[in-house]
Amino acid sequence: MFEKILIANRGEIALRIQRACREMGIKTVVVHSEADREAKYVKLADESVCIGPAPSAQSYLNMPAIISAAEVTDAEAIHPGYGFLSENADFAERVEKSGFVFIGPRPDSIRMMGDKVSAKQAMIKAGVPCVPGSDGALPEDPKEIIRIARKIGYPVIIKAAGGGGGRGMRVVHTEAALLNAVTMTKTEAGAAFGNPEVYMEKYLENPRHVEIQVLADEFKNAIWLGERDCSMQRRHQKVIEEAPAPGIPRKLIERIGDRCAEACRKIGYRGAGTFEFLYENGEFYFIEMNTRIQVEHPVTEMITGVDLVQEQIRVAAGEKLRFRQRDIELSGHAIECRINAEDPFKFTPSPGRITAWHPPGGPGIRVDSHAYTGYFVPPTYDSMVGKVIAYGATRDQAIKRMQIALSEMVVEGILTNIPLHRELMIDARFIEGGTNIHYLEQKLANKPDLPKDSGNVKK
Ligand code: ADP
Repeated sequence: MFEKILIANRGEIALRIQRACREMGIKTVVVHSEADREAKYVKLADESVCIGPAPSAQSYLNMPAIISAAEVTDAEAIHPGYGFLSENADFAERVEKSGFVFIGPRPDSIRMMGDKVSAKQAMIKAGVPCVPGSDGALPEDPKEIIRIARKIGYPVIIKAAGGGGGRGMRVVHTEAALLNAVTMTKTEAGAAFGNPEVYMEKYLENPRHVEIQVLADEFKNAIWLGERDCSMQRRHQKVIEEAPAPGIPRKLIERIGDRCAEACRKIGYRGAGTFEFLYENGEFYFIEMNTRIQVEHPVTEMITGVDLVQEQIRVAAGEKLRFRQRDIELSGHAIECRINAEDPFKFTPSPGRITAWHPPGGPGIRVDSHAYTGYFVPPTYDSMVGKVIAYGATRDQAIKRMQIALSEMVVEGILTNIPLHRELMIDARFIEGGTNIHYLEQKLANKPDLPKDSGNVKK
């Protein structure tokens, strides 16, 4: 096993990885920007290295600085967390070429899955069902594009091959709007992702977002660890996640889970990963694979009892998977609310100093957060300041516990989306289970009576 790991990330996930390492007796090095110098998790690490100024491009995305930090601290492996360089194949390659272990898949797997066109092609080959769409990237010929759209049937969605984070997508309802939408998405994709390639998919009108967690080792052993329902989204960004997905027959999920594990074996995948699907009318359609740990991994940990971060580290160290598929038993229900520093109904960011932070507790409650009273939320990064996870024997109990947790939680000095979560935890449709990916936006649009006041105090 490694003696020392460098954590190339920040915020709650940097702390989460640190906790896994400490439990395993592994020393940690945290790299940080000037903006994160005072963060408590930086001080909790065995060592820390400042790698640059606040902007990510000069710090958390600065490959040479991160690799130099690993060299000077004698770290053996680098954990990239999520976001930043976690799905950058060039970084994984540079880490390995410099003699360190990248805690994640092989660079060629990251590259294959990072390009959504090649990812879909690989999945079709591996027998995973995909959203019907163009066979690869869209050609230049306008007539051909029109023909493809007619064949798929409107509405269609134009998506950037290199897209991510819910960006680089455009829905098209009519042929008249098609070519313009393709041109615009290409231009945007070129500017945002450095790759103008786009592809076309059938636009599913009322799907749910259901994803499968996988874990694989060097030796082609692969398992899946249940599913997560992440349909509660705003602007294609997840707000609440839960496991298992309510109301989907287990047989259907088992079939798709087995396919995902099989696909991992076929492509020689290593590490933790997530197969994302849209689920509509009893069918699963693959949309993309994330080759890293996800924000919502705790809900899977709660219902399986498996520490995904520790297992990531073990397989990266060359160990064999400790579990076989039959060892994975799902028990109970878990829900995660992402706590963001933002206005809960206007969604504008709310960075600043937290003057009071009282996280909830009690049976079944887990809080993954790097925040504390006195912590300054920098304006530079993602607005997520933590996650509240509630576990219960049943979904009803998990919801009840989450309601109590959210009612206890106090955050002052900044605005947070806790009031929105409180509202959603008593929403009749959410309580029923199985809402689709448009539900939250529709609710926000149709309910002018939602509290406009954030309910939390900004002093
Ligand atoms: P990203 O990598 O940016 O997260 P995804 O391909 O995972 O992009 O899609 C993100 C979200 O966009 C999905 O969860 C879903 O809400 C929506 N979406 C993507 N493809 C489709 C589709 N074919 N039909 C309907 N919605 C889609």
